[in-house]
Amino acid sequence: MTYSSSKIAERTANLRNLLTQAGHAYYVLDRPVMEDAVYDRLYRELIDLERKNPSLITPDSPSQRLGGSPAQGFTSVNHRLPLLSLDNAFTIEELTAWFARVKKLLQKKLSDPSTTSHAMEMVGELKIDGNALSLSYSEGLLVRAATRGDGTTGEEITANVRTINSIPLRLHLNKPPSWLEVRGEAFIPNETFAAINAERKKRGDSLFANPRNACAGTLRQLDPQVVSSRQLEFFAYTMHLPDDWGSDSDDPKPPTGQWQALQWLQKAGFKVNPNAELMNDLDAIKAFFDNWETGRQSLPYATDGVVVKVNEFNLQSFAGFTQKAPRWAIALKYPAEEVPSKLVQLSYQVGRTGVVTPVAEFEPVLLAGTSVCRATLHNASRLKALDLHSGDTIVVRKAGEIIPEVLRVLTDLRDPTAERLHLPPRCPECASKLVQESKEAATRCINNGCPAILRGALRHWVGKGAMDVDGLGAKLIEQLVQKGLVNSIANLYELNEALLESLENMGGKSSKKIIAALNASKSQPWHRQLFGLGINHVGETNAKALAKAFPNASLLAKAACESKELMQPIHGIGTEITESLHQWFVHPANQKLIEELHRVGFSLATTTHEKINQKHLINEADNHLNGCKFVLTGTMLSLSRQKAQTLIEQAGGEVSSSVSKKTTYVVVGENAGGKLKKAQVLGIQVIDEEKLLELLAKTHPN
Ligand code: NAD
Repeated sequence: MTYSSSKIAERTANLRNLLTQAGHAYYVLDRPVMEDAVYDRLYRELIDLERKNPSLITPDSPSQRLGGSPAQGFTSVNHRLPLLSLDNAFTIEELTAWFARVKKLLQKKLSDPSTTSHAMEMVGELKIDGNALSLSYSEGLLVRAATRGDGTTGEEITANVRTINSIPLRLHLNKPPSWLEVRGEAFIPNETFAAINAERKKRGDSLFANPRNACAGTLRQLDPQVVSSRQLEFFAYTMHLPDDWGSDSDDPKPPTGQWQALQWLQKAGFKVNPNAELMNDLDAIKAFFDNWETGRQSLPYATDGVVVKVNEFNLQSFAGFTQKAPRWAIALKYPAEEVPSKLVQLSYQVGRTGVVTPVAEFEPVLLAGTSVCRATLHNASRLKALDLHSGDTIVVRKAGEIIPEVLRVLTDLRDPTAERLHLPPRCPECASKLVQESKEAATRCINNGCPAILRGALRHWVGKGAMDVDGLGAKLIEQLVQKGLVNSIANLYELNEALLESLENMGGKSSKKIIAALNASKSQPWHRQLFGLGINHVGETNAKALAKAFPNASLLAKAACESKELMQPIHGIGTEITESLHQWFVHPANQKLIEELHRVGFSLATTTHEKINQKHLINEADNHLNGCKFVLTGTMLSLSRQKAQTLIEQAGGEVSSSVSKKTTYVVVGENAGGKLKKAQVLGIQVIDEEKLLELLAKTHPN
């Protein structure tokens, strides 16, 4: 969002205050108040604003310091060399730009004959989500351990660090260097973290937000016994050598690059993360990142990205440092699931049932790897609960494949003149007065002639679970409604090729295909026709049950209007659905629609062919998947989703779209995403297509 110059100073000050508070909660209290990714994005916005407007930089801005300040109760120690941070890249494009920048910076040096490798070798490492430690060894003995603190001054925590078993108290070298500083990351493995929090819960203590905060809190314990009980671990990732390495040490020559340093550290007795790689080009770095984006799920500790470093020390020194981070390294962070964005406007969607849904349109952000700029707010109550104002900074979330949502508003960043947002009193499509139905959270447009309702009804009718008319998409429907060519579902069947061809972006071939698909749709089974009518609460499963009990529309209409009790024994059909069917069938416009559909060639009845099929496929005695709940994810090779769902339901199982504790099986096809991850987290049984076919084969041996 671009701000007027008068607003820039206000925004900068608000960001500074919010980030200062968040930094205190994070670094000092070990109780973060926002997601790291939210902090990172807001921090970057502050840096950008300050860079463009240097007069706004204040000495107390979070951009002017590194990390937190040393805690009370510990001796402060000055680091011999500052412990810096790392610059972040949030996208592959940012990584690519960094790579090009460093290559350009090192161009002269890379062509220098004294440089060992002219290809700019890089080392890729996992970014361990823990706390940086600086360990000093004198004549091979651990003499001091310190936290990073503000980068220049840290806390002396030697007694605590001595309890970490993966840190050698004496280097495993016969002739250790006179002095050595080793840096690395202390962390708490996931299982230990879960056990610590379980124990704290039992005692009624507050829980740690994540392993990193638990680790920071532990390192600053005043009692080393407590630290010891928390079983911290440590991965070493770099070292600083004495100037006088000397020929009397184990190795005549000190390591000349990061890759050799990792091996040297291992030899000296440190635990080094085994997943580092030496790489020659950008493609290898991208592959390394992609590999660990999924691979990290199975690691026993938390990582929040990968770190890429220029290998040769010689090149590193040439590239040098900015005030806060080395130029020769970058942290590429994994896709965030929660990030801040700014509301651009609130728009409204009118669905096929007339329900008006507020939709937040915000500045595009990358969420869980995809670019997102809209999120539905569901209803007026959600809008009210969020207390959304124009131009608000919001936090949006998208975990795995789940639809994006607006989680909360960062009210500290709100413009005091911003207006509160409400649902409009009139339909944004047809301007008729909106109705708030009692008990229901939904606000509706009840004008049957509303073009938005018609568009929704048409989209639903031609959709996959209903008539499945290929090629008749939302854009074409929009044109048909706007031009007044279609006023009801039945009108679709009065279209012809010439008329379609005269519309925008329509060719002869596609028009022909659509007309053929519309004609073919007339033989879709009765339950799909019923589902296609879009009656409130009549989803695919209920439509199947109703179509089975009432083999044609007039029998169903009769029951709905005159003898609702006939519906009560049908499995899954309760009073809400019965009432909704009643309302639908008594409405004259819907009675007219049924007549029109008959006229254009729909039987709205179970055909003889369907009856035979039902007999073959639905074997009540063999409902062996009864009670099993399936979730399908990814692309299957031999079955379409629709087909798989039909077969599961015919065997008595249920298919749902989201994974929960109640799910029995998650069926995984190719390129499965978040649902697979969720299944793994919840410990739900994951099966492949072959296993699904095996389960189904018990009823359908073919
Ligand atoms: P950082 O954690 O993003 O990156 C630098 C650190 O990475 C290093 O200091 C080092 O400790 C660590 N690291 C892990 N593996 C490494 C490896 N293989 N090689 C080199 N270094 C490695 O940056 P930071 O300056 O330490 O702290 C900022 C972090 O703190 C950000 O992630 C930020 O989101 C978080 N933070 C969060 C809040 C909040 O409210 N949630 C507030 C303040 C800071």
